[in-house]
Amino acid sequence: MAHPPQDARVAELLAWYDRHRRVLPWRAPPGRRAEPYHVWLSEIMLQQTTVATVKSYFDHFVARWPRIEDLAAADLDEVLHAWQGLGYYARARNLHKCARVVAGDFTGRFPETEEALLGLPGVGPYTAAAIAAIAFDIPASPVDGNIERVVSRLRRITDPLPTGKKPIQEAARALTPQQRPGDFAQAMMDLGATVCTPKNPKCGLCPWEGACAAKAAGDADAWPARAPKKAKPTRFGVAFWIEDATGRVLLRRRPEKGLLGGMMEVPSTDWRDDPWDVQAAVAEAPVTSEDWAEKGEVRHTFTHFHLRLTVLCGGTPGGGNADGVWVHPDEFGGQALPTLMKKVVRQVLSDRAA
Ligand code: SF4
Repeated sequence: MAHPPQDARVAELLAWYDRHRRVLPWRAPPGRRAEPYHVWLSEIMLQQTTVATVKSYFDHFVARWPRIEDLAAADLDEVLHAWQGLGYYARARNLHKCARVVAGDFTGRFPETEEALLGLPGVGPYTAAAIAAIAFDIPASPVDGNIERVVSRLRRITDPLPTGKKPIQEAARALTPQQRPGDFAQAMMDLGATVCTPKNPKCGLCPWEGACAAKAAGDADAWPARAPKKAKPTRFGVAFWIEDATGRVLLRRRPEKGLLGGMMEVPSTDWRDDPWDVQAAVAEAPVTSEDWAEKGEVRHTFTHFHLRLTVLCGGTPGGGNADGVWVHPDEFGGQALPTLMKKVVRQVLSDRAA
């Protein structure tokens, strides 16, 4: 049972939220519950992506697929294509899989408990808690980066992340009220995004100024603390830009599992820890060519490593029998090419224009 000072904290924050809540396309108007489809879609998009970027993608998705059944009926390719630019394509594949499960096994309605939500593809503890709280007003405690910051400062939790996640989660759970838990979760998100910012928090505008342990200690900027990051390793690969006599380029689909799974690519070797000997790498090309020419290097950074991709261009007059599709560069816009592969395309075309 919540004790009176905590009730006061909740009331202060909800009163602040009623005046200052952000208007976001996936949010319901005050006093109404949000559409579970919208909450789920926005939460999946917001993982690793900013609100400003997500807004236009969200609008595009709900205009194109107004109901979860519409998204479930779409081809995976269409979804991956619409996802282009958001990155982390496993999210898009799971999004599509989850839409099919909800549309098929749950007759288009999201299950209404945190436990059942956790059973859906691509829905982890945070997303399940967010949907439960925001769409169903269940007293769940989603802790995203914003809430992590607010709670770690309010309670001055000094354990560095990731160890600090557990005490922060426990403190967030202890704060979560039975009344208006969905608004409370969104209020904490908004407070973190607009007032309790990573640098120079605006404590003078904060409804919790008087209760905040970090403000009292004068060190709000320091929390949450983070354990030092390990340096990212560098991996190496070779990409093969192969043209037929009509200028079409060979593209193929990457395996479903793994990084950029299901996306289209200019065929490339494995990405490994040691640089490739380019002469040896041509044996990995899906077609033979007499005239391989090196066209520089493309660099890209993924979450866990840097990639350096040497680009080789070659011609094969007859088109060859390689698996994949032959596409003219003017028509690449219709292909689900991830950012890395767009860099390869730019590298080759700009070299040609120079
Ligand atoms: Fe964040 Fe300052 Fe509010 Fe504390 S008082 S929660 S540090 S904005």
